Amino acid sequence: MPNRRKILQILAGLPVAGSLLRGNRVHAAEVAPASRAAAGRDIFKELGVQTFINGSGTLTMLSGSLMLPEVVSAMNAAAKHFANIGQVQDKVGERIAQLLKCEAAMVTSGAAAAMTLGTAATITGKDPAKIRLLPNLAGPQREVIIQASHRFVYDHAIRNTGAKLVEVEGKQQMEDAINENTVMMLFYNAASRHSVSREEFVEIGQRRKIPTFNDAAADVPPVENLFNYTAMGFDLVTFSGGKAIRGPQSAGLLFGRKDLIEAARLNHSPNGDAIGRSMKVNKEEMIGMMVALELYLAKDHKREWEEWIQRTRIIAAAAETVPTVKGETVINPGPANHFPGLRLIWDQARVKITPRAVTEALRTGEPSILLSGGNTLSVNVSMLEPGEAEIIARRIKEVLQGAV
Ligand SMILES: *Cc1c(COP(=O)(O)O)cnc(C)c1O
Repeated sequence: MPNRRKILQILAGLPVAGSLLRGNRVHAAEVAPASRAAAGRDIFKELGVQTFINGSGTLTMLSGSLMLPEVVSAMNAAAKHFANIGQVQDKVGERIAQLLKCEAAMVTSGAAAAMTLGTAATITGKDPAKIRLLPNLAGPQREVIIQASHRFVYDHAIRNTGAKLVEVEGKQQMEDAINENTVMMLFYNAASRHSVSREEFVEIGQRRKIPTFNDAAADVPPVENLFNYTAMGFDLVTFSGGKAIRGPQSAGLLFGRKDLIEAARLNHSPNGDAIGRSMKVNKEEMIGMMVALELYLAKDHKREWEEWIQRTRIIAAAAETVPTVKGETVINPGPANHFPGLRLIWDQARVKITPRAVTEALRTGEPSILLSGGNTLSVNVSMLEPGEAEIIARRIKEVLQGAV
């Protein structure tokens, strides 16, 4: 599977807003009145925003995943009524905690917000003065311990609280780093290397009474991961709502220890003088998140996996009708983005086109198809809608055949 940097290189070829706007000067008379029924409008077309078939997987830049119709209906139904936000979060949180067999849960505006709110909870507890002052508390800077190999872009969400990350390698350094300013220990579940295992990490946290947080944002499937980390003893766990769970893209789950979830709630919107006021979650997203989780847990995961494999076969079979082309189903080992995908290779002396040029032809073709390969042609089939594997199969075959 291509790495993130390669993905970004490919995606850099995307049209940017400015270039679209230059070609599409909009006159006032052409702007659809807001009263026109949304159902009759093709808003992306009006705006000049290109939609595409997503053969890249659950990337935030590509709007993550598509909500299932049941999720959208639940959100539409929720949009018709006023409700007290605290009460919705209470009840949704209780239901999610039951579903995930843990003490408490809340809906956040994504996993990154869950990281900020969880860290805030470990710093302030339920102290209103500290909640008001965060991120500029009096006294020494609070410290969050992280393995050096776990540093990643999303640790910015921890640093938002004003806390400082203290890097360690191995158990001994972790033990030695704990002091009276330590508020939390962060585990990056999908890090490529752990110098302290999950079990050792939790053991140290529990013995030294330091809350442990596991960021497992992109780590379903398997569905069991939603239960594994609290069962293992992590105090807080986050998953993105808008990746494989297919909830609202701007939602996430924070769950675990009750006192910490309560403290995270106090640091969150709707409270005004709180670090989380800018991480608002409305009732539609809370309810959409809950319904998406219900559907995800109830899903036949084995069948879905087989469906994904089937999609890779459909595309491979079409591509392999072109001389020398070979398709290989590749399983990303995870824990993040554990999906099957398809990698296609061919003899470029016979089929005279590079994987990059194929990817580009698919992107600029009709319909536009986005793949995130660089030096290989790779298709992530997990986010395809029914019928789209067949479209990708046809287009890849056309482009490769055209280069023979
Ligand atoms: C995607 C991701 C995040 C951010 O999740 P959002 O739900 O988009 O806020 C954080 N950590 C990891 C490991 C991720 O993969």
